[in-house]
Amino acid sequence: MTKRALVTGGAGFVGSHLCDRLLELGHEVVALDNFYTGTRDNLTHLRSHARFSLVEQDVIEPLPALGGRFDWVFNLACPASPPHYQRDPIFTTKTSFLGTLHGLERASADGARFFQASTSEVYGDPEVHPQPETYRGSVNTLGPRACYDEGKRVAESLCMDFHRTRGLEVRIVRIFNTYGPRMDPNDGRVVSNFIVQALRGEPLTVYGEGKQTRSFCFVSDLIDGFLLLMQHPDTTGPVNIGNDGEFTMLELAELVRELTGSRSPIVHRPLPADDPTQRRPDLTVARERLGFRHRVPLREGLARTIEYFARHTSEPQRSEAS
Ligand code: NAD
Ligand code: UDP
Repeated sequence: MTKRALVTGGAGFVGSHLCDRLLELGHEVVALDNFYTGTRDNLTHLRSHARFSLVEQDVIEPLPALGGRFDWVFNLACPASPPHYQRDPIFTTKTSFLGTLHGLERASADGARFFQASTSEVYGDPEVHPQPETYRGSVNTLGPRACYDEGKRVAESLCMDFHRTRGLEVRIVRIFNTYGPRMDPNDGRVVSNFIVQALRGEPLTVYGEGKQTRSFCFVSDLIDGFLLLMQHPDTTGPVNIGNDGEFTMLELAELVRELTGSRSPIVHRPLPADDPTQRRPDLTVARERLGFRHRVPLREGLARTIEYFARHTSEPQRSEAS
């Protein structure tokens, strides 16, 4: 059955891919965004789509009527890269808390199912590895990442309180590092930084010794996981979605150099405060409950992302963490 879906943060990297997939599946989509980090360009190809509309709106403010009732509310609005979410940390916390509250209130009023884009950052700098959903995390509440990490944590608790006290149907996904076409070349995330640097023949900036690890998921695999969770009859979550291949930042830099054929040197820059030393999802719940499988290996996903950046970037970027 087709659904009417609201996607907050729809003009962002992940949100725009979600809009594409929902439309491909025959649903009607209203994307809502304030263009803080997302762009209209990410949705230009949908401009004349009959089942798509885009509304400029800040989720910190109560949501307008938006043409009637929704069946699904996807809450993705939030700056996601460390330089972006640390630029105005109070705005980030307000976006997470008030944006989620407003989305939940709307879903509750409409009798809609609510989807929360949470994050592996709720695990902080984890002492448990890989991270299962039962791990409660190790977040520095006072550090520069807390605006994002704690914002996402309180958003999860709000979701659960709406679920428990109002019977709202909720789906919480904890997203691990995701990459792919339409990443913002200037947002400072490691995959986009390395690719753009390699394509320009600039040094690849590895923070710290580069021994910290991350697990990188191609965006189409993430969206598969979103839909499996949203359509599942009775899994509230949280559910980790990602790819459980684990790489050091030095390994990632070498792979990007190989795939771009770049001779860029690797340079080391200071490690940002509270940078997690290791991260890898335990995907048991996603696999066993949702039947989730990631399909795109890192090498193939990077090649597709490199091709996108080669076509779309020309201006010099800001590559350092702020
Ligand atoms: P993004 O920055 O590309 O997208 C976020 C979107 O939200 C942007 O379009 C931005 O303009 C919009 N936005 C921000 N604040 C807003 C506000 N107050 N009102 C309205 N719109 C607002 O980031 P992304 O990578 O696409 O991330 C999307 C979601 O997924 C975020 O909630 C993020 O926390 C979560 N997530 C992403 C990753 C990842 O690796 N990409 C990992 C974990 C969690
Ligand atoms: N990083 C890096 N060089 C860069 C950007 C990031 O070495 O140019 C490192 C960063 O310190 C972190 C990892 O890459 O250890 C992933 O950073 P990103 O900002 O992409 O995601 P997050 O830290 O939120 O997982």
